[in-house]
Amino acid sequence: MVINFECKGCKKEFDCEMGKIGINEQTWRPDFERPIICPRCGERTMDEVFLTELGQSQMTEATMDA
Ligand SMILES: [Zn+2]
Repeated sequence: MVINFECKGCKKEFDCEMGKIGINEQTWRPDFERPIICPRCGERTMDEVFLTELGQSQMTEATMDA
């Protein structure tokens, strides 16, 4: 599943293949199979990126399938 993020470091939007996406039942945060990789900054955590509007609808779609 590809998710669209905005990097807080370089302020650029990018698409990232996240593999399977689930929800962590303890924290209610998304659980990704693969790391978030910004093409400019490298590996990022969830706290270092924003979900774009497109990313949010992709997430909703992904977690509904799960
Ligand atoms: Zn970046």
